[in-house]
This record gives sequence, structure tokens and C-alpha cells, in this order.
Amino acid sequence: MNLQHQTKKDLSMPVQYVKGIGPKRAEALANHNIKTVRDLIYYFPYDYIDLSKVGKIVDLRKHADSGEWVTVIGTIRTFDLIGRPPRQRLSVILEDESGTIQLVFFQSVQYFKKAFEVGEIIAASGKVTIFNRHPQIVHPSIDRLSPADDEDGGLQGFLHTRGIVPKYGSSGELQSVNLNIKGFRRIMKATLNEFLQFAEEPLPSSIIDKYKYLPIKQALSSIHFPETQQLLDEARLRLKFDELFSMQLLLALRRQSVKVELPGITFDVKSSLARQLVDSLPFKLTKAQVKVIKEITDDLKSGKPMNRLLQGDVGSGKTIVALIAMLIGIDNGYQTALMAPTEILAEQHFKTLANFLKGLNVNVRLLIGGQRVRIRDDVLEEIRTGAANIVVGTHALIQEHVMFKKLGLVIIDEQHRFGVAQRVALREKGIESLSGGPNPHILVMTATPIPRTLSLTVYGDLDVSTINELPAHRIPIKTILNFESQLSSVYRFIHEQVKDGRQVYIVYPLVEESEKLDLKAATESYEKLKSEVFTDYRVGLIHGRMSSDEKDNIMTDFEQKKIDILVSTTVIEVGIDVPNASVMVIEHAERLGLSQLHQLRGRVGRGAEQSYCILIAPGWMGRKIKVGSTIPTLDGVEDNKRIAERRLRTMLETLDGFKIAEIDLELRGPGDYFGTRQSGLPTLRLANLLTDGDILLSARHEAFHLIDTDPHLRLPEHRVLRKSFDEWMKDALGLLHGG
Ligand code: ADP
Ligand code: MG
Repeated sequence: MNLQHQTKKDLSMPVQYVKGIGPKRAEALANHNIKTVRDLIYYFPYDYIDLSKVGKIVDLRKHADSGEWVTVIGTIRTFDLIGRPPRQRLSVILEDESGTIQLVFFQSVQYFKKAFEVGEIIAASGKVTIFNRHPQIVHPSIDRLSPADDEDGGLQGFLHTRGIVPKYGSSGELQSVNLNIKGFRRIMKATLNEFLQFAEEPLPSSIIDKYKYLPIKQALSSIHFPETQQLLDEARLRLKFDELFSMQLLLALRRQSVKVELPGITFDVKSSLARQLVDSLPFKLTKAQVKVIKEITDDLKSGKPMNRLLQGDVGSGKTIVALIAMLIGIDNGYQTALMAPTEILAEQHFKTLANFLKGLNVNVRLLIGGQRVRIRDDVLEEIRTGAANIVVGTHALIQEHVMFKKLGLVIIDEQHRFGVAQRVALREKGIESLSGGPNPHILVMTATPIPRTLSLTVYGDLDVSTINELPAHRIPIKTILNFESQLSSVYRFIHEQVKDGRQVYIVYPLVEESEKLDLKAATESYEKLKSEVFTDYRVGLIHGRMSSDEKDNIMTDFEQKKIDILVSTTVIEVGIDVPNASVMVIEHAERLGLSQLHQLRGRVGRGAEQSYCILIAPGWMGRKIKVGSTIPTLDGVEDNKRIAERRLRTMLETLDGFKIAEIDLELRGPGDYFGTRQSGLPTLRLANLLTDGDILLSARHEAFHLIDTDPHLRLPEHRVLRKSFDEWMKDALGLLHGG
């Protein structure tokens, strides 16, 4: 009796059920997280070779200097190094039955030399130029098609395969069980032949019809073995939608569970404390501030827990908005908490709030790790009894022994410091350990505006308020790029500024990999600046390794103008507000990320005087950075330098936090933003948050609409969707459930 015939087939079967996959291959695949037939089918090609466009070498002359991208397939006859370093190049002669062409490599010559073998069959694509009357392709893109790879044997077989051929990512381990380009194609064909018929359509037909998407079977078949470029495009579009749709479905469900299922606290938003505060302000709130306050108060009185992101560029005035929300909470008899990412920032917030609240009967307390035990016990007691109305702190706030009497509102000021992963953890922990009774309202503040596509994903379960306007009368900061050789003129400039009564920050980057060395550099520079350069002025030093008392004293001295020039590591990146400081000098600016640079720059430009941000870069960058200039693109090795140049140029070109955030995302790639899978969101294999914004928007629209009408996916027409969703989310859900 053949058992296999009796088992009902479906995609959740182990890959070993596929013809051609034995235990060895199954094990190798499992090590690459491909365990079921579904995993295998969703292992998409990373690229394709379009063999329908392959030409004969003899015809290449016709394309010379046309700028067209052409592909030829041939056998490597010879390859030679020509010339000596650094002007060495590698010349490869490729031959097909019609003629020969030279492929030339200037970069990574040694690497390519090792990579090629005489007799090997490759596909080479690129632009044809004529050199010494012969056609050549410089730095072609190469696909290796060893003879073993070709199903019909020999070169002819390839030339007769006039289709679009998938390329699958492989590895040493996969190669060792013959899952190379050809092996993968074979098992993928076998898998689809046998199992594709069991793929169920997860999307409701209304969505498929509306967007004219390919049905799932056709999409899966076409992404592996597309018959035409158009089908491939349609398959990719459909499957990108699926990815983004499942992600948005998760967010819609999360949001649903907070907004609809949890009871919240209903605040009466007519608050006399808030009124008194607004009346006492030396400035008028901006229109944007008024708008977001309205959005927040609508949440506070809705009876549902607020779950909102407040974004606004550095200096846009988020603190006062948060304070108004907190005063409303206090007038309703609740305690409120403000959580900051660093002790310095917590202390700064504490002082700022205390200042704003002078004359109002509100008790603000500070809770941070580095506090003296007696004070700390006192604060903890006031949190317990409810005597503390506002508690400002670091994540010390969410430790277990902190017990609020009646917590109604939590503000998380993350200022881009907490990674996304930490934010999710923090917020979830915050909700758990802080709530106890009712579900507190939550407002997350972020300083660097993030691109819309990202806010719809990483913050996709939050409602978003944006302060899109800076207070009037701010003088735009002047950003200047100087090189290390120009330091003495930078120092002269600082002299003048301090003589005029201004204060100055000089920042040394502190990067994790070389923390000790960086700290040493900052300390040494401080000594030198103090004893040799700015002998007439008061120079201070602050860094993250100091105790909170030390840091506190230094910051107080700086605020009270007892220090003119503050040498610092990147600890001052976030939140610090000293309006009289008008110059920000950033040493080794090339080492910092774009949003970090923007945050640092935002520390100045808060007062009535013209402010300056001076970026110091090493000499080698000097030639290349000009506003609006384009840099010739080189591959590989040069990438990091180019990216650093691009960051600095961006700083010179714009003060707009939104624009900077977009470019930052582009330079770092969305993967980096997500950090890890710890964000609790599924990994995107096809979709790209930078370029697929419109698909994301429709996916979001449909997902949120669907959850509105069927909050638990219980309708019969959503049965397959529910099942697929569980599949899609199997990685993410483990995290959500704390597994
Ligand atoms: P951020 O959004 O970066 O946290 P802050 O809340 O620190 O900005 O505000 C920056 C500075 O602007 C503070 O000194 C604050 O008191 C001031 N400020 C806030 N709102 C206004 C306003 N409407 N007009 C003028 N100054 C304002
Ligand atoms: Mg702030």
C-alpha cells in the first residue's frame, strides 16, 4: 500500500515529499529555514536572466556606444592581467560560435581573476564600447552557467532556452547537495508541478478584482518561471501586495485590540491647569501645535486608550504639547509619566517641566538609575501614594517595583534613540507593568520625522499626529563643512562667537565598536582645547561614562553660562535645550549617521541669534563634496565613502527633517531601520518600503477596511485569509506572544 497516495497533499507538507528532495537536501534546506513545501514555493528568485534577449557576439558591434544593455553567452577562452597596480586591469576573452569579445575589469581585479576558469560558460551583460577598434564590455554583470547547469547540455542548450530563467540564492551548503542554479530550478519545477494546485487563494475576490491582480496560483507560477516580462511584473506586484497586506493586517489587528477591545479612561479635557499654563507662556502656540493638541484631546475624551505617535522635527515644540496632555490627566485625578531614553534627557525634561510649572500646584518628580537611594525611596513613595503628579524618568520607570497609585497617561519621548525593536518592547512592557488597573493613554514622541511609508509600518498600529511647522522667528541654522586642515580657522570662529557671548558645543562621535578610543580622543581634545586653544574661556567635558551627578552638574553649569565651550561625546545628541548655544561643531562628522547629525544640529538654532553647525570631515573627502554635485559611481569598496559623502552633502543641502529622514532611509536601507525581526513585523522579501509606497497604501487601506468589517476574520469568505495569515505570521507571532 502506498501511504503517500492516501495522504491529502497540501503546502504544509515537509519538503521531502517533493520528488528529488531526499533527507540530505531536506536538511540543507531546513538550515536555510525552508522546511515545508510552502517555504520552498515562497523562496523566490533573487533575479532572472532574460535569455530571450541574448545576442550573438558578432552582432555586438552594432550596439557599440549605443548605451543599450546587451547580454551574450559564451565560453571563457583566456584571461590575463594587464599592466601593473594601481592601473592594472583584467582582460577576459569570451567566445561564442560567432566570434569573441573582450570583458574588462578595473576594480577588484584579483577577485575576478580567481573567480574565472578557462572553459567556463558565462552570460555577460553590459554596455558595449569600442576600444582599439575592438568591441568590449567594461565591468559586465556576470552569470555563471557552468555546462552542468544547462539542461540540454552544452552551450547550444542555453541559446535555445529563449525564456526568462530564475536565479536562486544558494550557499556552500546548498551547493554541496547540488542545489545550485540548475538544481534549484529543477526542484522548483517539480514542486510547482505537484503542489501548486493545492495553493489556496488568500485574498478576497473583491480585492483581486479591484486591483486586477493575478490569482495566487498564476502569481506563484510566474514569479518562478515567467513566460514574459509582463507576467513577471504582474506576479511581483501581486506578491508584494500580499506581503504588505499581511503586515498591515497584523497592524490593523493590533490596533483593533487596543482601540476596540480595551476600555480606556475618559478624561474631561477642560482643564484649568492646562489653561493656566497656556496663559503663562511667553509665546503663542503654533497652528500645528494647536492642531495636534486637538487630536490628542479627542483621544483623551473618547473612552478608548490613546495610542498615538507625535512626530515633529527637532525644535518644533513637542514638550509643551506633552505637558498640556499631562495637565489634563492631572486635573482628572490621574498621575502621568514621561519616559526619556537617557538620564541627561530625563533631567533636562524634569527641569524644563518644573520651569513651565512654576506657580502651578503640580508635583513633578524625577526617577533615574543614578539617584541617591534616599531621594529615590522618597520618589518611589510619592509614586505609590499618588503625591507625585508627574514622574519623569528613564526606563527605570518601568521596573517592577515602581507602583503607581493611579496612572492615566504615559508619554514616551524616544527622540529616535530607542531602536524600533526596543520601542515595541518598551511600549508593551509599559502597558503591562504600568497599567495595573485601567489602560493608560500612550503618546510616543519622536524627534526625527520618519518617512510616511515607515510610519505606516513600524508605527503602523499608532495614530499619527505631526507638527509640521517650527515656531516663527527662528533663524535658519547655517551649516558649514570644514576639513581637518581648517581646524585653526574653526577655532578662530569659536573665539569670536564666545567673545560675543555665545556658547559652543564640540562633539566627538562615540561609536560602539571603538568606544574606548573615541572616549580617549574626546578627553584628550578637551585637555588640549582647555590648556592650549581656549585658555581664556571656560571649557567643560561631558560624556556618558560620568555619574549622573557629574553630568547633572556640568549641564547645569552650561545652562547657567558657567561653561562657554562644552566638549562632548554624542550623549548630547538628544533633546538638550540651551538656547544661548549657537555653534555646534561636529568632529569626524563622516562617521555619524544622517539622523544623528540632524539631531545634533538641532541642539542649536533655538535662540534669537544666528546659529552655525560646523561639520569637520577628513581631508580625503575634500575634493568630492559640493552641493548638488554628483559623484562618479564605483562599485563595492567605494560604497562606504560614497555614502558618507552623501550624508554630509545632504546636511549642507537641507534643514528639512523629513527630507533627511527619506535620504537616511535610502542610504541605510529599510532593513537597518527595522533592526531585526524583533520589531514583530514579518520580513519583506519582495516589497521595498522606499519604492513600493503606493502598493503599501492600498494594502493598508484594504487591511484596515477588512478588519473594520470583520475584526476577527470570522466570515466564511475570509477563511483562507485567516489560515494564510497565521502562516505568514508564524515568525512574527512568536514574538508577539513573547515566545
Ligand atoms: P522638540 O520638539 O525638539 O522637543 P522643544 O519642545 O524642546 O522641541 O521646543 C524647542 C524650544 O522651542 C523650547 O525652548 C520651547 O520652549 C520653544 N517653543 C515651543 N513652542 C513654541 C512656540 N509656539 N513658539 C516659540 N517657542 C516655542
Ligand atoms: Mg524634545
